[in-house]
Amino acid sequence: MRDDIYIYIGKNASDPLIEYCKNHHLDKLMLVADDNTFAAAGKHLSEKLKAAGFDVKMSLLKGEEIVANEQYFVQVMLDTGNEERTFIAVGSGSLTDITRFVSFHTRSNFIAYPTAASVDGYTSAGAPSVIAGFKKTVYCQSPLGVFGDIDVLSAAPQRMSASGFGDMLGKYIALADWRLGKLLWGESHDEAISQRVRVAVDKCVERVHEISQASTEGIQALMDGLIESGLCMLDANNSRPASGAEHQISHHLEMKLLWQHKPAVLHGIKVGAASVICAGYYDKLRRISRAEAIKQLDRAQQPTREQYEQEIAQAYPGIEDKVLAEQEPFISLSEQGYRDLKQKIADNWAEIQAIAASVPSSQQMAGWLKQVGGETDLTALGFSSAEVKEAVDYSHLLRHRFNVDKLSHLCGINLK
Ligand SMILES: [Zn+2]
Repeated sequence: MRDDIYIYIGKNASDPLIEYCKNHHLDKLMLVADDNTFAAAGKHLSEKLKAAGFDVKMSLLKGEEIVANEQYFVQVMLDTGNEERTFIAVGSGSLTDITRFVSFHTRSNFIAYPTAASVDGYTSAGAPSVIAGFKKTVYCQSPLGVFGDIDVLSAAPQRMSASGFGDMLGKYIALADWRLGKLLWGESHDEAISQRVRVAVDKCVERVHEISQASTEGIQALMDGLIESGLCMLDANNSRPASGAEHQISHHLEMKLLWQHKPAVLHGIKVGAASVICAGYYDKLRRISRAEAIKQLDRAQQPTREQYEQEIAQAYPGIEDKVLAEQEPFISLSEQGYRDLKQKIADNWAEIQAIAASVPSSQQMAGWLKQVGGETDLTALGFSSAEVKEAVDYSHLLRHRFNVDKLSHLCGINLK
């Protein structure tokens, strides 16, 4: 179980932050911000902290695109110097991850002061980082506390909130995928955590209009949902409750941008658009009768190791070994195991249909995304149709998880 993280999302977040730091004798602080977040929150926060008697230093990161990579890790370390300070990340995803990374590796305390409701990773212990050109999540530490000022969060660019909303909508897919994983692949599943995530995403959808208006009520609901999703991942000890096939499509595209040295696209914007695709799989699944499913299962051939190797070499050059290792439980499935899996699908078709029924339609998902100013089509984000097709065809290989797309790629159910 996680240690308790102090959470405050509301008005005047600097006040509870000051109180928290005083109560915990955190006198020497290191604020990490960039030009935008400094203007939005860092300047005001720094002044208030200084006025309250704290010793405050600032690391102001520069650059067109702030990425959690070696360059910025080193800069924050140099700015801090060789002294013990409590780090406060004033910003959204990347700034928080940079601060999480540096604080952990200097054995320092870390507090998050988010400036946008854009992602559910604030409470996370892992820092998605780019190390030597490859993206990996480095285990670091959760923050002691998350202090979000609702006025700052509400004033963030609408695209940031649309990203947070897209990240939340993905939970409909993630939760259904998780149940499929439990039913068909014996993955561990926690019903209570699953319910908590469901409530969190439903509450965001209920407030979709307010979120589109960036009202304090809307952004409060969105941020509460993102925080709850993050806490659920901590309690589950992995990202399963919050990340399914939609996150794998997004992850695939993110890697490709990195390899092509192109600028990143906001995480939740990609996840939202990918969720529309995955909701489409569930749409199609709902229309397949048990009799038709049995026909498709009968025709399905188990992919051979050579086929896996070929596909992985084509889609993931440079990280083939890692992807192969990830897929090994699927690759090494015995003939009998494969027959059993197909039988399990046929036997549990009613349950699979119940799971599919829990996912809103792709049309509904797209409608909500449009309402908040998100993107519903990955090609509108600058990806070519071929790139999107590649992500759709191969991203199931990125994790050893039984998501909805395994039904088609592994078991021959026609969802595409
Ligand atoms: Zn996410």
